[in-house]
Amino acid sequence: MWHDAGNSASFVPSGGSVQPDQHAEEPETKRRIRNLMEVSGLLPKLVQIAAEPVDKEMILRVHGLEYVEEIQAKSRGLGGTAGTNTFFSTDGYDIARLSAGGCLSLMSAVVASDVSNGYSLTRPPGHHARPNEGMGFCLFANAAIAIREIQARFGLSRIAVVDWDAHHGNGTEEIFYSDPSVLTISIHQDNLFPIGTGAMKDRGEGRGEGYNINIPLPPGSGSGAYFAAFDQVILPALYRYRPELIVVTSGFDASGLDPLARLMLYSDAYRSLTNRLMTAAADLCGGRLAMTHEGGYSRAYAPFCGLAVMETLSSFRTDAVDPFNDYIASFAGQSLQPHQEAVVQHARGLLDRL
Ligand SMILES: [Zn+2]
Repeated sequence: MWHDAGNSASFVPSGGSVQPDQHAEEPETKRRIRNLMEVSGLLPKLVQIAAEPVDKEMILRVHGLEYVEEIQAKSRGLGGTAGTNTFFSTDGYDIARLSAGGCLSLMSAVVASDVSNGYSLTRPPGHHARPNEGMGFCLFANAAIAIREIQARFGLSRIAVVDWDAHHGNGTEEIFYSDPSVLTISIHQDNLFPIGTGAMKDRGEGRGEGYNINIPLPPGSGSGAYFAAFDQVILPALYRYRPELIVVTSGFDASGLDPLARLMLYSDAYRSLTNRLMTAAADLCGGRLAMTHEGGYSRAYAPFCGLAVMETLSSFRTDAVDPFNDYIASFAGQSLQPHQEAVVQHARGLLDRL
């Protein structure tokens, strides 16, 4: 919660005609998720896992030395930028190590069967970070760093990443692009961010060819499009790949109230998607499912999506009611639309090489 992403107006740096404001990637969205977990009574039912910061050697499996040392040096001063629109302040390096460390502590606990599944609610996020460049509010590739360490510790040879953040998981894709030991799947709003990445034609390369799947949904997609994409592409991909661990890089910016995307999910839809993944994890890898936090920028609504996912993961339903659920679920176009179905049908072709 100490990470300071700066005074951009939403995601545009202040200056000139742009008045300084609260950056979109702020602590409050995450703090309110935790607060709702507490007042709903869910938190005491869960096992809380302390985040151990990842060390520099672990970061260097994924990021270049020059980049890491640049972050480190700026972090000793007043901070600076890790890449376009990606700011941090004093001690940002250590906070980013802790964020990646939360992912690692969780994955480690899941693989060691200390817990059956879990959610790492940390920031800054990670899925946009490239090997030598921070991007999209992400300094280090949290999930990727944790996965590399998990591979080293436990010798796993097949890990699947499902990225349901509204934006393309470009960093995770790039890091594992030629590596068949990590299947990367991203379902996102078509050409939302980064512009020009996340196309269906990007399927991996070399030995990793076929092990990257992008499902770019049209803006306006709702639960019908998500359920179809999961049932017809994502779940079949997981069953073909047979992962030993399923990682979800989870954003709640695909919700119908999010300011940074134009998708229409609601908390019951997140419950349903979580259930699908839990069933797959139970069938394929002893239930091993680890979710790591990415985006989600609605202060009002991200908490209800987060609570729904964590209630589902823990099989404990609190009395807390989501007052937004039925409103969003009633939006026109929630069912699978023909132009969305065409995308899902096309994406089914990506299963061929798995
Ligand atoms: Zn996002």
